[in-house]
Amino acid sequence: MKITEIRLGILSVPLRVPFKTALRSVSSVEDVIMEIHTDTGAVGYGEAPPTGAITGDTTGAIIGAIQDHIAKTLVGRDVDDFENLMLALDKCVVKNSSAKAAADIALWDLYGQLYNIPVYKLMGGSRKSITTNITISVNEPDEMVRDALNAVERGYDCLKVKVGKESEKDIARLSAIREAVPRDTCIRIDANQGWSPKEAVRILNGMQERGLDIEFVEQPVKGHDFEGLKYVTERSYVPVLADESVFSPADALKIMQMRAADMVNIKLMKCGGLYNALKITSAAEVYGVECMIGCMLEAKISVNAAVHLACAKQIITKIDLDGPVLCREDPILGGAVFEEKDITVSDEPGLGIRGIEDGRLKYIC
Ligand SMILES: [Mg+2]
Repeated sequence: MKITEIRLGILSVPLRVPFKTALRSVSSVEDVIMEIHTDTGAVGYGEAPPTGAITGDTTGAIIGAIQDHIAKTLVGRDVDDFENLMLALDKCVVKNSSAKAAADIALWDLYGQLYNIPVYKLMGGSRKSITTNITISVNEPDEMVRDALNAVERGYDCLKVKVGKESEKDIARLSAIREAVPRDTCIRIDANQGWSPKEAVRILNGMQERGLDIEFVEQPVKGHDFEGLKYVTERSYVPVLADESVFSPADALKIMQMRAADMVNIKLMKCGGLYNALKITSAAEVYGVECMIGCMLEAKISVNAAVHLACAKQIITKIDLDGPVLCREDPILGGAVFEEKDITVSDEPGLGIRGIEDGRLKYIC
């Protein structure tokens, strides 16, 4: 199975409601879709969302990295030469984790198709379904309560609430949500680097003393501040999950060695795809550190790849793959089935993506 051509397009999918975090606000998913074509007719699909505020990867940067470096590295090579392809992909350009993730995902898709096996089984997995939380954006407290109640009505029993914009207001927001939702609703929070270490400890312990029962906090402090993260982890009643601190497998290992966080969040767009994500899960298995699998604002192609990883690895105990359900429509054919909180992996070979609805993808090459 030889790689003959790489095509790129832009897929636009409107969101149900604007997505707001401490860092940004967006109203639609505008992702780069990558197709790797082969001489057998098999096509591998990958996807990369531009998340300049998080990864530094903009649409132009993703397209440039693929056209100028990745395509030149992959075209003409054999999919069966998988490990060498993965090593070459990692080496052909530094950083650019989203562009690399798109290529990695498309290559796993092809490799699974080559051997007629779904990717999660290729990784040894047996789990067929997982349950995701849903994100509640930062807004005025009453609007957040409305969004939370709407999510509970749709069947979600675990909410990931965005906080960290104005620290005094965060406790009011969480109190309002905790009072409104059923008592057994799990609430986890994501501060997206919004607090200083001392502020984080004060706010988090204040939340628990008020009985808000927060399951864990995601990235309370700046991503580069490993010492600050450790400070919070040691002093907060609320367990800490590292997100923006963990891009590469080396970052994850360092966090685990320092005991700077209780858990780590794997996102394919941060670590460069499934090949590197597997290294993080292996390190986490050794250290006994549970992982969450998350996504950016992504349509179904790349989130579907994360579903395969989650179904393969039991060390992934927290699922935050709500990208597709935040979208107003799903133009992707095949792949995992997303029914609100319940996600079921596809048993088709590779990643099971069959294509994109006619006319939806705006090809650029
Ligand atoms: Mg996060």
